[in-house]
Amino acid sequence: MKYIAKDTLTAVEMDRGEVIEFELASGDVAKISLVTTDARVLRTTLKELKVPEEAARTDYSFSCILEVNGREHLLEREVSTQRSFYEPWEIDGVRIWFDAVDDIFEFLAEDHGVCRPSKHARFAFQDATKRICPELLHPWCPLPEGGLRIEQCYRGEDCWLGAYEGSQAHGGLDINHPKGTPLWAPLDIHDQYYFNSLAMGHNNNRWRGIHRWPDGSEWILQAHHMTELTVPEHTFISKGSQFASGAGVLSGYIDHSHFIFKVHDYGRVIPLDPWILFWQMYQDF
Ligand SMILES: [Zn+2]
Repeated sequence: MKYIAKDTLTAVEMDRGEVIEFELASGDVAKISLVTTDARVLRTTLKELKVPEEAARTDYSFSCILEVNGREHLLEREVSTQRSFYEPWEIDGVRIWFDAVDDIFEFLAEDHGVCRPSKHARFAFQDATKRICPELLHPWCPLPEGGLRIEQCYRGEDCWLGAYEGSQAHGGLDINHPKGTPLWAPLDIHDQYYFNSLAMGHNNNRWRGIHRWPDGSEWILQAHHMTELTVPEHTFISKGSQFASGAGVLSGYIDHSHFIFKVHDYGRVIPLDPWILFWQMYQDF
């Protein structure tokens, strides 16, 4: 498949052996193929993998060999160490966010939110001369000074794909903050609503907001555990305005908000690490 770099990130899932072309703004075309993928447990407190234990911890690494224009590159990530908050790669003019490999599900279950790639690996690609999107992002919540800290992701494990209870891939990014912490719109939100709420009889308040880009891509942003939506549902929210009081509902041992990011484009919805948004927010504000 051939992609042409847009003004927003291109989320792509690939199988081993699959080749894609990614055309840059310069007109150069990068040929990218996924050669291998791998994942391994670095350390765990579990007695048995995949069997959840209260406050257990499993840290792991994952990797792939990506061939770009005929040259192989080893990409390696760690979760959920501080290195979960990683810098993207830049190879031959392509900025590469290496989001996930399916191999991690050899030792994790997908029981804590949708996050498993539908192919062997998941990436987001962008022309390295472009931002993740053409607009500055407003902080989604007060940004911790100096960057995100893994210790502040629930019990220190619930970054994107972190091992909740040592055994379940965490389908979101948790940021600890007190009940009532303001949540602001990172971008204009064209539609938004609760898809779960206490009022509807669920055990949690889960909100979804949608931003539609002129390039055809749609970004889906979600926040869970919020105590209150402070705007009426299905109304427009302008970038930077508060729409909710975060944390506080079903937020467990430590009050936190759970953030989700998905890209809807090319007829499919692909979840990505919300860190990518926060990485850009730290650059923008
Ligand atoms: Zn969470």
